[in-house]
Amino acid sequence: MFDKLLPIASPEGHPGEEFLSDVERILDSRQLTNASFVREFESAAATYLGIPHCVAVSSCTAGLVLVLRALDLHGEVIVPSFTFHATAHSIVWNGLEPVFADCDPETFCISPASVRDRLSSNTAAILPVHLFGNPAAVEELEGIAARAKTPLIYDAAHSFGSRVGEMNVGTFGTAEVFSFSPTKVLVAGEGGLITTRDERLAQRLRAARNYGDAGNYDPQLFGLNARMSEFHAALALRGLEGLDQRIERRNQIRLRYLQRLRGVQGLSFQQIPLGRRSTCMDFSVLTDPSGFGQSRDWLFDALHKENIDVRRYFWPPVHRQKLFRESWDGWSLPVTDRVSERVLSLPIYSSLRNEDVDKVADAILRAHEFAKRGGMAKGQSAR
Ligand SMILES: *Cc1c(COP(=O)(O)O)cnc(C)c1O
Repeated sequence: MFDKLLPIASPEGHPGEEFLSDVERILDSRQLTNASFVREFESAAATYLGIPHCVAVSSCTAGLVLVLRALDLHGEVIVPSFTFHATAHSIVWNGLEPVFADCDPETFCISPASVRDRLSSNTAAILPVHLFGNPAAVEELEGIAARAKTPLIYDAAHSFGSRVGEMNVGTFGTAEVFSFSPTKVLVAGEGGLITTRDERLAQRLRAARNYGDAGNYDPQLFGLNARMSEFHAALALRGLEGLDQRIERRNQIRLRYLQRLRGVQGLSFQQIPLGRRSTCMDFSVLTDPSGFGQSRDWLFDALHKENIDVRRYFWPPVHRQKLFRESWDGWSLPVTDRVSERVLSLPIYSSLRNEDVDKVADAILRAHEFAKRGGMAKGQSAR
């Protein structure tokens, strides 16, 4: 279908000349990290999101590590297994114990019912993910966390620009943490942002990202160097321009895929509940082998043969990864296992052309025709 590989992702935004003049300003200022561009970005992000406090950091992973640390938690953190492994690593880095909850079969986000099942007297926090940009069940999770009196921290890596009604992701829970690494919807090269309404927590996080030191060389907690450099902040600031149009375009691509693929036997899709906006950081199909005629892995190979870079996000699920399966408590996660065995992410980015979207969809349709014929032949030979 394609002469050269169609990538799964492509960095969003391209500031060009303007960014080069930012770089000159930074070099002239002699302040290369955590200075005026970082403050300007934090303030622009706070305005965009509608949240009082934004703390820029070097990555989402570092941000999650520091939020858990700054809250001084002990015990278990309830987290989805259907996520990027870094979510769970932030828990382990703090000497806390990840307790995996199942995901919802439609939204792919953590299932509130499963979170309830996993609460215990050792629960220290709940750490949901807005998966692929689809906002988690924030209202229900808020209620659960309030009743359990535990902090609620969102991994919002995929979701700068996602909304629940009029509210932006970034305004929920005790804190939320975004990522600006190259495959995300807002790109700084590397970087992250912590958002919170809690002024004291924000102050602690400002120290935490600076070795725990608020400036008096007598650190208040064990921190990291997790500052954002001025160059990264400048890129993130430029990325805010046109962000909504790029998210809009990603949503159009999602709809275009859906129009062409809906109704194909054995394929299903992540559901985005009414009234919510996803950044469409990823678009994936679930392949049910009994309907589709072949497995997800077969489709993975078939599309790679067509030069389409598709990925298994997220497989294996975290609880089955080498670093976790030994310590996993054996709590079964049937939906996570099923979704992660069937999921396949397709190329999506705002610069992806309609004709390329159509070619990807056509490649899947063609594979499906082939799989159906193969399936029939198998059925006949069995008789
Ligand atoms: C990318 C990602 C992260 C890590 O973000 P970094 O900024 O690269 O540290 C964390 N969680 C999820 C769900 C991600 O997709």
